[in-house]
Amino acid sequence: MAEKWVVGVDLGGTTIKMAFVNVYGELIDKWEIVTNLEDQGKYIVTDIAKSIDQKLQEHGQTKEKLIGIGMGAPGPVDGDTGLVYEAVNLGWKNYPLKNLLEVETSLPAVVDNDANIAAIGEMWKGAGNGAKNLICVTLGTGVGGGVIANGQIVRGANGAAGEIGHITSVPEGGAPCNCGKTGCLETIASATGIVRLAKEKLATSETDSSLRKLETITAKDVLDAAKENDRLALEVVEEVFFHLGLALANAANALNPEKIVIGGGVSKAGNWLAERVTEYFKRFAFPRVAESASIVIATLGNDAGVIGGAWLAKQAFGE
Ligand code: ZN
Repeated sequence: MAEKWVVGVDLGGTTIKMAFVNVYGELIDKWEIVTNLEDQGKYIVTDIAKSIDQKLQEHGQTKEKLIGIGMGAPGPVDGDTGLVYEAVNLGWKNYPLKNLLEVETSLPAVVDNDANIAAIGEMWKGAGNGAKNLICVTLGTGVGGGVIANGQIVRGANGAAGEIGHITSVPEGGAPCNCGKTGCLETIASATGIVRLAKEKLATSETDSSLRKLETITAKDVLDAAKENDRLALEVVEEVFFHLGLALANAANALNPEKIVIGGGVSKAGNWLAERVTEYFKRFAFPRVAESASIVIATLGNDAGVIGGAWLAKQAFGE
């Protein structure tokens, strides 16, 4: 039998990442199209279907080659029906994504939350290294989270399981979060949170810092300065690592994971970040939980979502 492919799709607010992946999780081809946000995102599914057809043609293949589609959407999803409860960035509310995808592509489809498929991708081919119990946290503009228990995505009662970014880190007087609460981990450990903390510290302390010379400050600037032993930047990142270690320990105490995978732009700080977070994690985790868990940096980068999506489709529709 000729080798079959699955399609992985990772839908974001600005781009849609897509890939053909074989059943061993190897990328055959990957590409991106722009997310068309016009008219409440009603063209997105058609764009995806057209793009798949076009790529198949380029490869001299037909739909026969494809097992199905696995797709991640930026919002809570009902994993059984493939209904996207809400994707604020796209203007979707109770959007029947799985059904529409199947109609437009004539392929079977499975849909999940984007952070969940990234976690699955890391489990299958990335830093999770096959671990069946895994927490994945993505430190980007926000903080995303995905939890896998016994090899299955944990979705919860209404698709909101694994929201590590909204664990409360500062119970009183914390900064406002996009979710409507205050003091969430996201307000501290996201790229946005790191910049906010650095600006606060620059405004309230006299400590000399290389950051004072910069016109605009990015999270990368803060992390780079800390690596160079800039005292003020170090204070900021230690606060970030402390809260990350604490929140991950609390989540891990409920889940007893083998691996905790840290991804997203902030994770480019690398093993140094993993080591510092591990120190705080060990302080706050239940001893048996701390013993079994290792904190590692994600290895798939932007490909985690499409590879995780492909895995879902392979599991659901592969023979
Ligand atoms: Zn929040």
